[in-house]
Amino acid sequence: MGANVTMVDTWGPGNSRSTSGDETRGIRTGYGTKEHWTRMASESIKRWRAWDAEWGRELNIGLYFDTGDLTMRNSVDPFIRDSMATWEQLGIEHELIDGDEVRYRYPQITAPDVNVGLYEVNAGICRARRSCEAVAEVFMRKGGKMVIAKADPGESVGGNLSGVTLANGESLSAGQYVFALGPWMRTFFPDHLGTRMRTPLAYVYYFGTPKGDQRFSVPNMPTWNIPATTGWPSLTNDARGFRVRTGGGDDDDPDTSIRWTTPDSQERARNILRDWFPGMVGQPILETRACHYESGIGRDFLVDHHPDYGNAWLAGMGNSEGFKQGPVIGEVIARRVLGAEEMYPDFAERFRMPTEEYGPRPTGGRGGRGGRGGGQDASPEESGQEAD
Ligand SMILES: Cc1cc2nc3c(=O)[nH]c(=O)nc-3n(C[C@H](O)[C@H](O)[C@H](O)COP(=O)(O)OP(=O)(O)OC[C@H]3O[C@@H](n4cnc5c(N)ncnc54)[C@H](O)[C@@H]3O)c2cc1C
Repeated sequence: MGANVTMVDTWGPGNSRSTSGDETRGIRTGYGTKEHWTRMASESIKRWRAWDAEWGRELNIGLYFDTGDLTMRNSVDPFIRDSMATWEQLGIEHELIDGDEVRYRYPQITAPDVNVGLYEVNAGICRARRSCEAVAEVFMRKGGKMVIAKADPGESVGGNLSGVTLANGESLSAGQYVFALGPWMRTFFPDHLGTRMRTPLAYVYYFGTPKGDQRFSVPNMPTWNIPATTGWPSLTNDARGFRVRTGGGDDDDPDTSIRWTTPDSQERARNILRDWFPGMVGQPILETRACHYESGIGRDFLVDHHPDYGNAWLAGMGNSEGFKQGPVIGEVIARRVLGAEEMYPDFAERFRMPTEEYGPRPTGGRGGRGGRGGGQDASPEESGQEAD
């Protein structure tokens, strides 16, 4: 769009503390009645594929893997019913199959008590931290400047931000500033986001697949969604592992949170293998990740003016579903900041600063499921929402 952009990141694109710094992220479009997320995600899938077609060979990496996604449930619940209705309206390819068909197609999944499977044909998996690195590389090739430093807002002059100061001693000034700080948004802007965001930790496990057994690797099974848990097959080439996401720790500060997973959470992940993927029982944990959700009280993304500065913007609140939307939300942000025509004028208002606020934060130490504050702090999957 012709803008002259400098990107500043404390630790660099895809760093381990960032929410995008995990190995993988699921890319799917089923969001019940949240039709606008479905539309954005569907366009994002096209763009993830287009990115690989344009840059994959040159950067020597494929980011997006087609797998399909399978939601398994005991019966057609509201999430399945509403997602199907949205897909039918938007013409998104899917299939509703019964439990026997699930077990026939994927004999490596026990699918206990499963009577229905909702299969989304065009869903997939993305290499997450490497996407961040790849995007940063292309950004620089196209003239962008990347600085590794922590930024802090400068003075307010006449209702505008005068600049940002960097921990490396420099300062930067610009026409517009976009703060896209993931889970740091809340503590960075406590006046406006302190009571509108929560940042609970979630644990992700990558289990080694059995030697010589390809059943748990791409392309032999889809990404999967069972009540309260999601996961997906191991990717080829680097085989980081078969991914299982469990809930995690408390609402916490991303600068200081302990990223080592708890025995209780490990047991939960192993129980999923025991109950659903018996061929994986006894396999070693190769890697773990602990990432903060950026849950917002409005349960939607935030792309809005900073209330105190005419030239600053806030972009974030991924609500555990933001990664997949990257190729589209990036354009939504860029258009809004540069004053270009809105990409989705019919739902542009949804991304405004929420007016509601959370109640007082629960207190408590680090814990597994039992240590969680519960209620408003529960991660989306535990509060009954769909989540990846
Ligand atoms: C366990 C888990 C599973 C998830 N699964 C999925 C999934 O399958 N699919 C999906 O689409 N989404 C998923 N999500 C959500 C998704 O990962 C996030 O919504 C998304 O990655 C957020 O990206 P972001 O750029 O807003 O934040 P981040 O990736 O956290 O980036 C923020 C960046 O800001 C930098 N920063 C912070 N403060 C400063 C400062 N003062 N100065 C300079 N830099 C600063 C940080 O270093 C960081 O790199 C999941 C989230 C979690 C926690």
